[in-house]
Amino acid sequence: MTRRVAAAAAALVSTGVLALSGCGVLDGTETIGVAMPTESSERWITDGETLADGLEGAGYEVDLRYAGDDIAQYRQADQVQEMIDDGVELLIVAAVDGAGLVDQLAAAEAAGIPVIAYDRLLLDSEHVDHYVTFDNYGVGVAQAQALLRGLGVVDADGAPTGDGGPYNIELFAGSLDDNNALIFWEGAMDTLRPYLDDGTLRVPSGQTEVAFAETYRWSEDTARDRMGSLLSQYYDDGTELHGVLSPYDGISRGVIAALGLWGIGPTLDEGLPVVTGQDAEAGSVQLMRQDMQHSTIFKDTRVLADRAVDAALAYLDGGEPEVTDTTTYDNRVKVVPTYTLDIETVYRRDIEEVLVASGYLTEEEISAG
Ligand code: BGC
Repeated sequence: MTRRVAAAAAALVSTGVLALSGCGVLDGTETIGVAMPTESSERWITDGETLADGLEGAGYEVDLRYAGDDIAQYRQADQVQEMIDDGVELLIVAAVDGAGLVDQLAAAEAAGIPVIAYDRLLLDSEHVDHYVTFDNYGVGVAQAQALLRGLGVVDADGAPTGDGGPYNIELFAGSLDDNNALIFWEGAMDTLRPYLDDGTLRVPSGQTEVAFAETYRWSEDTARDRMGSLLSQYYDDGTELHGVLSPYDGISRGVIAALGLWGIGPTLDEGLPVVTGQDAEAGSVQLMRQDMQHSTIFKDTRVLADRAVDAALAYLDGGEPEVTDTTTYDNRVKVVPTYTLDIETVYRRDIEEVLVASGYLTEEEISAG
């Protein structure tokens, strides 16, 4: 599958081998630019593949690029600018830094290229035409509810059990240059706050502000290091840790690794704290099966990608994509018309029914090696 054919063809234009129309290669194939943040997390690989398959299936070439979380040689701003210069028909962008593409979005607008923000909102620009995403606030609520349920504070229906703890927890947030991180945090903290206020939950580190809880670029290593230093600073006196709010499976794995190094566990049954997650990554689903990670949030990225493809095709056919939400996603310049998808909390017993039966993960991928 040659997803960079159009870019390569564009390079031949100067030699006269090929000619470009205003916005596409004149071999009849038009190109869509797809900018994804990183290949270090499985979900973005699935997103990219599903988007490419869907767009190619509709007859387009796809220029799919990953930004390695914006490391110098793969700067996402440069990648998007190149796609614009290459004359893509449309851009689908999951930003590393939501506010980092303002100049490129203005250039896309000037070139008449529609822009679809994918999963993560593009900020500080009026040149964002459409947004496809999940119920991000709902993710935060679901993570907090899973934590409360794991601690025994609420039951399976989310109703308080009357168990007043107190339980010691620590809080992790995602990367604050990703708008989703703030929304996940808001949903989670709105849900946890009553229990923090009435003393059912305590945060021994006192780190209840998002700036302290940030895990820059969602890094597993950063999470492991922060968890390690929280343990040595606040738990060395024997204080017991009961739960950790984690917004993403990679962060969860870092946290669980640090807990293991500290000698806690190794399983939930044997005293490992309740750790939440997100994305149903195979490595974390394995940990769930081994009774080490408590929960994850399943977001079917195949459905999100299909939705983005539908939106793209609507624009390319001269129409407008379907919208479900016109009030929530304010990017600081405008409220971006959005299509929102539902999410689902997954516990150990749901793995087969929700993840395997739907074909999202195979039994082989989640069998510990
Ligand atoms: C996505 C999450 C993902 C995180 C880290 C967020 O923007 O919505 O699904 O866990 O980025 O990649």
